[in-house]
Amino acid sequence: MISIAVDGPSGAGKSTLSRRLAAELGYIYVDTGAMYRTIGLYALRKGADLDSEAQLAALLPEIHLEMRYVDGVQHMFLNGEDVSGLIRTEEVSMAASHVSAHPAVRAFLLETQRGLARENNVLMDGRDIGTVVLPDAQVKIFLTASAEERARRRYDELAARGENVSYEQVLADVRQRDYNDTHRAAAPLCAAQDAVTVDTTGCDFEQSFQMMLDVIRRAPKQED
Ligand code: C5P
Repeated sequence: MISIAVDGPSGAGKSTLSRRLAAELGYIYVDTGAMYRTIGLYALRKGADLDSEAQLAALLPEIHLEMRYVDGVQHMFLNGEDVSGLIRTEEVSMAASHVSAHPAVRAFLLETQRGLARENNVLMDGRDIGTVVLPDAQVKIFLTASAEERARRRYDELAARGENVSYEQVLADVRQRDYNDTHRAAAPLCAAQDAVTVDTTGCDFEQSFQMMLDVIRRAPKQED
């Protein structure tokens, strides 16, 4: 099986680019951020203290996560409910960033993620795919862009959906999530030593897509 790991900070375009790349290559796309978001949503609904590992660990056995592919698009199901749209709000983004700091939460998702890579050719995106989840991935890409550019993209996306937020607030959130993701003790965001960094600052979708495709095509791939 072949695995491609795509890591990087929030808003670098990972999901959109990864989805297109996976489709192009005929691989399964695994959005691990959606899994953390779903746990964040559940914790919010339960009114849990997002910084309490004990409270979150107590909730985990109540959570049944399922990823189903509808026309090639990953849908997240939380205890049978399709929450794919609900997990895309700013509130849930921030909740995901908090809950993902807990080792218990990360351990809960690790086996699911590795299992998918054992059974399928995958393009998996997240924060720790190349470093922790799939250290033997044949291709590792660290996708990044400046905080300002990532905030602008995120702001445009939220505004298009009618969410009432300011650019300054989105930029502050991006910086806060960067800080949370890079400073946590458990699987912090960092580029794997053997990852190729792709910086999409100033690049449009097509240019970014081509840069990533070039990295993938240049990488020597062996079937396991
Ligand atoms: O990628 P996305 O923005 O959807 O991820 C939401 C949050 O989930 C991130 O801010 C990060 O804290 C967390 N995450 C993680 N490890 C991953 C994927 C996401 O910690 N592999």
